[in-house]
Amino acid sequence: MFTLPNLPYAYNSLEPHIDARTMEIHHSKHHNGYVNNLNNAVKGTEMEGKSLEDLLTHHMDVPAVRNNAGGHFNHSLFWTVMGANAGGLPEGELADAIQSAFGDFDAFKNAFAKAAGTRFGSGWAWLCVAKGGALSVCSTANQDNPTMPGVGCGNQPIMGLDVWEHAYYLKYQNRRPDYINAFFDVIDWAVVSKNYADNK
Ligand code: MN
Repeated sequence: MFTLPNLPYAYNSLEPHIDARTMEIHHSKHHNGYVNNLNNAVKGTEMEGKSLEDLLTHHMDVPAVRNNAGGHFNHSLFWTVMGANAGGLPEGELADAIQSAFGDFDAFKNAFAKAAGTRFGSGWAWLCVAKGGALSVCSTANQDNPTMPGVGCGNQPIMGLDVWEHAYYLKYQNRRPDYINAFFDVIDWAVVSKNYADNK
């Protein structure tokens, strides 16, 4: 059985950048829905009891698993890379890796914002690390993510941004670029740095 993880902060912690009502609906309704639908999709099948990573890697041919295992994985990462009193700039080896891959932080931010802003319809933008430590930015459709084989967006995601309208519509309506910009004010770089160190 998969379970909805608690947020590591209160629903209103990311205000004014991301409003409490959006966070509450997004976590308690949307993410919870992916968890429930995933449990229902694997129940009574040979997939029951398999890990999320196993489902993401080997069972993408089942649409209900692809959508809901992806949704569960993606949101579980998304909540943790944001925090109260966050934002600012990365430090240490992650800052060095960003400089190596993109030139400087602004160039990285532009690349990430472009990936998020140009994803047509619903999907995600990702910062990924390859074995060896090289960073890259990409985006995926729907609830796909870079751990899935064949999505054309490789390696391990260490930060993700949800660009489905449900993630920003109440506060930003159609203004996805403003929401993407606001995300940079709530990124918890300490968490992203740990994800980098754990997966490089
Ligand atoms: Mn979402």
